[in-house]
Amino acid sequence: KHAIHVRGLEHVYGTGKKKFTAVDHISFSVEESRFYTLLGPSGCGKSTTLHCIAGLERPTSGEIELGDTVVVSSRRFVPTHRRDIGMVFQDYAVWPHMTVFENVAFPLRVSRHKVRDVKERVMRILETVGMAHLSQRRPSELSGGQQQRVSLARALVREPSVLLLDEPLSNLDATLREQMRAELRQIQRRLKVTTIFVTHDQYEALAMSNRIAVMRNGTIVQEGTPREIYREP
Ligand code: ADP
Ligand code: ADP
Repeated sequence: KHAIHVRGLEHVYGTGKKKFTAVDHISFSVEESRFYTLLGPSGCGKSTTLHCIAGLERPTSGEIELGDTVVVSSRRFVPTHRRDIGMVFQDYAVWPHMTVFENVAFPLRVSRHKVRDVKERVMRILETVGMAHLSQRRPSELSGGQQQRVSLARALVREPSVLLLDEPLSNLDATLREQMRAELRQIQRRLKVTTIFVTHDQYEALAMSNRIAVMRNGTIVQEGTPREIYREP
């Protein structure tokens, strides 16, 4: 499992008079198997940072390293599908026309795994997220929390070294959110997948993280363990 290094990351949207610097030369590192959180108000540049790490945005400048691989530098840009990552977004994009099984199997079909191998790996990860008994259901027959577990299983089925989570709990009600927070953290620990989590919720960040980077206006204004962040707000 791999560490993550982000160095001098800058992302500017638009051109000319409409130029806007969403991420302004930020740097941070995440140790392998750790749970790292980007915390800050809406619009501070959290999602843009995550999208750059995922390869969904091409940074204006800076370097990103996932494990031993430089995925972004002035000379290099590795596309999303060649990065060793899994992603979950706020509006769990599970496909309504596919069963739970087929949703989770999809990334393996794309990378042409053998049928028997697909079955075993899909059922194993569905077991991990507690959804094996619902593998033949369709998303419309599932609760929000269950759909989010399917998203998580789909993100993890290729056993990525890095998991990127963009406000994955924010559409859930308070009770479910609390429960999913604990579950997500248990799964992350068990699989030892290096994780970057994006949230605007300070309580969530303090409760879940090994380390937190607090962002404001495209910069990191504070970085440390939850204890350190809590001490000096
Ligand atoms: P867990 O919560 O999974 O049990 P531990 O409590 O064993 O994790 O260890 C987490 C420790 O890792 C924290 O003290 C945290 O500060 C430390 N750590 C040091 N550097 C980093 C980093 N770059 N990213 C994540 N965690 C880090
Ligand atoms: P956060 O995730 O912290 O809410 P974002 O990274 O989504 O912040 O956005 C950072 C800033 O960049 C915001 O001011 C937002 O309006 C702007 N922004 C985001 N996406 C685009 C885009 N595609 N074009 C122009 N501006 C954008």
